[in-house]
Amino acid sequence: MHQRILETAEAIAARYLDTIASRHVGATATRAQLLSALGGSLPHGSSDPVAVLEQLALHADPGLVASAGPRYFGFVTGGAVPVTVGADWIASAWDQNAALYVSSPAIGVIEDVVAGWLLEILALPRTAGVGFVTGCHMANFTCLAAARHEVLRRAGWNVETQGLQRAPRLRVIAGGEVHVSAVGALRFLGIGSDEVERIPVDGQGRMRADALESALAGGAAPTIVCAQAGNVSTGATDPLDAIVDSARRHGAWVHVDGAFGLWAAAVPELKAQVAGIEKADSWATDAHKWLNVPYDSGLAIVADAAPQRAAMNLAASYLQRGADEERNGMDWVPESSRRSRALALYALVRTLGRDGIADLVRRNCRLARRIADRLSAADGVSILNEVVLNQVLARFEATPGRSADEVTREVIARVQAEGTCWAGGAFWQNKQAMRIAVSNWSTTEADIDRSADAILRCYQQVRAS
Ligand SMILES: *Cc1c(COP(=O)(O)O)cnc(C)c1O
Repeated sequence: MHQRILETAEAIAARYLDTIASRHVGATATRAQLLSALGGSLPHGSSDPVAVLEQLALHADPGLVASAGPRYFGFVTGGAVPVTVGADWIASAWDQNAALYVSSPAIGVIEDVVAGWLLEILALPRTAGVGFVTGCHMANFTCLAAARHEVLRRAGWNVETQGLQRAPRLRVIAGGEVHVSAVGALRFLGIGSDEVERIPVDGQGRMRADALESALAGGAAPTIVCAQAGNVSTGATDPLDAIVDSARRHGAWVHVDGAFGLWAAAVPELKAQVAGIEKADSWATDAHKWLNVPYDSGLAIVADAAPQRAAMNLAASYLQRGADEERNGMDWVPESSRRSRALALYALVRTLGRDGIADLVRRNCRLARRIADRLSAADGVSILNEVVLNQVLARFEATPGRSADEVTREVIARVQAEGTCWAGGAFWQNKQAMRIAVSNWSTTEADIDRSADAILRCYQQVRAS
């Protein structure tokens, strides 16, 4: 029974992954087509599970996006190193509840082991708390909840029992280019988006440390500073060393949103970009972006584990707990019953090792520079950012009758429809740009060259049209 179903799934998955590099990268079906193929009335009786899987794969196929493939440059999207797909299948088969040690001692230990390895790779304090969450958004939430707990505790207030409504006023300071996810996480925590004080940024989107220092000097309330490693458009990192020093002097907590940029810390020649990062109080990052494990996977890391546990911990008489060293995964995250996300990470670190992970990040940065060079060598194309990491912002010149914004938007639409690669758009300092993020483990120089050729071909067609 199991075997027949799992073999079907294996065949579908292998066929997909074996051909992913030759697919049209974007989806090709319309919503109406997908709805008519996949929808229909509610089934009342049963069907053969093998047929269900085969039909599902057949009908969903034209609506799939080859975002796990080598020429998908949209948002900041990783693929999945093959061993992590295998580990993720095993996670489903074992179907462990990673909430409590007693509900899966193996997963409890694996989370501890992976936490230690990742802290070592990132050169963060080895005693930090690590929560395995769904993504950087929840990692931001977890870390900022710990921050809120601690800065209010120092002001004599227990936010977990006394709430926020009559608490001492909390200041939250972020760069003008703070990611929307950090602002969203703060909203869940009772901090409105208009309450976040925005610090001016430089031309690459980095928070200005001198402006932060003035802001901190101008007020004494319990304060959280939200810094960023890896701007989602430019890849630039805030001057963390100066930010942490300034925050320390004023007793503020420093949280770093490092969804992808944190991984610069794993590469010796990129480390200078995140200098001082280890002195921050908390770090949020993704594993499903640059670490190339399947969705969903993120890490919430807090230097002092106590406020993280104070903010996340739940107690009930039936939640059976053992010895202190036995890890209950739910103590570190805003979830109770949960998936064994650490399994894919365990398999990744075992397979690639520290050097392999550094090499993955390093290779993507080199390929980002390659596509930036290929594009900017062409007439009428400019690169708007300093390509320091894996992010590239390309802009296409105005033509008679069309502004550069319009031309750039048309090129993006053509590239998406053409299907060799996929890149999205973004506004950078009021200019429309094509945003190219190179984050996939399997991307090669040949993929970059093919993609650059396709983008330039689309640009020529827009110019000629
Ligand atoms: C992607 C991203 C997030 C949100 O992460 P999810 O994986 O979507 O939860 C937060 N911050 C930055 C800088 C990001 O790039």
